[in-house]
Amino acid sequence: MQYVSTRGSAPALDFEGVTLAGLASDGGLYVPAEWPRFSQSEIRDMRGLAYPDLAARIMAPFVTPSLTEDELLALCHTVYGDFGHAAVTPLVQLDQQHWLLELFHGPTLAFKDVALQLLGRLFETFLERRGERLTIVGATSGDTGSAAIQAVAGLERVEIFILHPSGRVSDVQRRQMTTVLSPNVHNLAIDGSFDDAQAHVKRMFNDGDVTATLNLGAVNSINWARLMAQVVYYFASALQLGAPDRTVAYSVPTGNFGDVFAGYVAAKMGLPIEKLIVATNINDILHRALSSGDYSAGGVTATITPSMDIQVSSNFERLLFDAGGRDGLAMAAQMHAFEATKAMTLTNAQAQGASALFTSARADQVETARALQWAYRSAGQVIDPHTGVGLHCAQAVAASVPAGVPIVTLATAHPAKFPDAVERAIGVRPSLPARVGDLFGREESFIELAGDYATTRDHVLSHAASTSAG
Ligand SMILES: *Cc1c(COP(=O)(O)O)cnc(C)c1O
Repeated sequence: MQYVSTRGSAPALDFEGVTLAGLASDGGLYVPAEWPRFSQSEIRDMRGLAYPDLAARIMAPFVTPSLTEDELLALCHTVYGDFGHAAVTPLVQLDQQHWLLELFHGPTLAFKDVALQLLGRLFETFLERRGERLTIVGATSGDTGSAAIQAVAGLERVEIFILHPSGRVSDVQRRQMTTVLSPNVHNLAIDGSFDDAQAHVKRMFNDGDVTATLNLGAVNSINWARLMAQVVYYFASALQLGAPDRTVAYSVPTGNFGDVFAGYVAAKMGLPIEKLIVATNINDILHRALSSGDYSAGGVTATITPSMDIQVSSNFERLLFDAGGRDGLAMAAQMHAFEATKAMTLTNAQAQGASALFTSARADQVETARALQWAYRSAGQVIDPHTGVGLHCAQAVAASVPAGVPIVTLATAHPAKFPDAVERAIGVRPSLPARVGDLFGREESFIELAGDYATTRDHVLSHAASTSAG
């Protein structure tokens, strides 16, 4: 498979190339040159496959010829054999119409593990082949950092520096990062805010002293390989609910539009998806864009669903490109105008292309709490607030989904990651699952650094193994 940039002027790359590149050189995002498609009978034949085998079947068209089917299959077994549930992403029924797809059985209890665990192994495979090393530098306000650290811990050709704002992440979040004691993992607690930490990271990517010595990489959700890995659980869940002979709708708690875009890809590949419900919190730029065509960034308001507190959604560009007719140069012009004005209107083609599959809804904090209460009282399920946003939106649009079509809400985090908000809503404090239950007994390792850029940069340069190894 070849990949093209949404902005039309970066070179086409193969799977290995896009995995290591992340962002395209023209500022765009890579998408497959065409969507591979499975026939109904091919999809029927996937019923009953174990998750790692299904994952290899779904991803094979995207990775050839960079990986052989055997290599891909081996990677999938390594990665998904290690999750906390044998089904990897189990379905739970809430009532006649509503289901939860539990995506939080990975090491850091959030759905990002499903993709990042694979991405770490892909990095290692391709770097080994090229004889290269990679230094990942990132800033986190809590969640992505731990998933990225767990994804690369112990790998030989990748090392990771994660900056977090000192004292401003929760104890669970900090410990999920700092108790990973592999020598290739560096936790830096920066005296400052998340924005300060983020600014340091951005500056390092543009600092000649850094880029001359280190092969820098990022793990944000613009990496195609992450989206690809997320396509699998749409297939896994729909197959269990009767696909391809029955359609399924999904409600997806959305931030950067990565997870729900993976659902769009699944539909393009032939999976009969009835609707994709883009569920947002009060930071509702996507809900506004999909309901009225107005994509304009406002400020960000902090909520009990921090992973959805976004101003703009980077992966939305992939949808606009594909639904709008794949005109890269027009897309580049549209995005440049957006970057200058922080506002744009969807073209007719984009709006119509999106509305064929997507609908949207938003949940405020009261509605989110009510969804948690409903799940607890009527189905005995303790859910996290992000999942609560998804469930509220699923219920809000349920009347417009044809009778008999199951609505699956993606459960994106384990409730124990957000114990305070859950306890406030339902009066029950969720506990950590047994496999991570000793988190508060484990040794921590992190370095406290002053808040200025030079201190951070010098620390990274002097502690990066890649520098000394050449
Ligand atoms: C990252 C995240 C989201 C948002 O996913 P996107 O792919 O960015 O849309 C939702 N819920 C949780 C718990 C997350 O960590």
